[in-house]
Amino acid sequence: MSQNALPLAARKAALVTGAGRGIGRAIAQELAGRKLPVFVNYRSDEAAAEDACAAIRAAGGEAYPLRADVSDREAVAAMFADIRQRGFWVQTLVNNAGIVRDGLLAMMPADDWRTVLGSNLDGSFHCARAALQTMMSRKSGQIVNIASVGGMRAQVGQANYAAAKAGVLALTRGLAREVGRYGIRVNAVAPGFIDTDMLAEMKASDKGAALLEDARAKQIPLARFGRPEEVAQTVGFLCSSAASYITGHVLVVDGGLCA
Ligand code: NAD
Repeated sequence: MSQNALPLAARKAALVTGAGRGIGRAIAQELAGRKLPVFVNYRSDEAAAEDACAAIRAAGGEAYPLRADVSDREAVAAMFADIRQRGFWVQTLVNNAGIVRDGLLAMMPADDWRTVLGSNLDGSFHCARAALQTMMSRKSGQIVNIASVGGMRAQVGQANYAAAKAGVLALTRGLAREVGRYGIRVNAVAPGFIDTDMLAEMKASDKGAALLEDARAKQIPLARFGRPEEVAQTVGFLCSSAASYITGHVLVVDGGLCA
């Protein structure tokens, strides 16, 4: 058997990228609760990924930590080879890994542009392409890309992030058109402000904290930030049979911010 061949008996699993903490961790928990073995991808914080897996197992689920920087094509290929060798195939892919490197574009270091595009957009491309090989041959699969309302309505200082997330939305729609005939659904979730470490990084500066408080009080009709579980449940819905006729769609989870 060639190294890439997949045994017919391989079990289906979910892969959630950047799942050691925040929204990704909540998504991994949600999918594991739906009886899918879950691979918890992480870039560097092994302890956090181990902890996320331990929490899933304590709740009766099945989870395995898996290291890879999703912006690195070869690392993603190695991650998928590892999943195959363990006897699984990725039937549900959630491209959640993402970062921000805020700053005005006129002064933005090229590296801050590249890094944000790399984790948010290139990572989604690398993982989707790797997962599609098996999804297409099995005529089954679903991909959910975690975008952002920032990809629809840009904030000052986030041109790199806005470009990356707008790219994720376009990737979602384009790919949905290409693979629908194989029974593969591709959707996106666009969260608004969700209470995670990413938000905590923004709160760390006086300017960021003031901006967030203004958004919470004046721009979000529900007048609060979202919880990771609220995004995770939306992903769970998109991955379920209740969403069997939904593809190429962007579901906004923002407390009414974009209303
Ligand atoms: P977070 O910073 O808490 O978690 C992101 C995780 O992704 C981290 O564990 C990080 O290590 C991982 N990651 C980043 N780059 C990676 C890479 N190249 N390879 C592997 N892992 C990588 O952030 P979060 O708030 O949980 O965000 C999750 C997703 O939701 C991101 O795509 C983010 O852009 C999106 N989002 C978040 C918010 C929000 O308000 N928190 C709003 C809209 C969209």
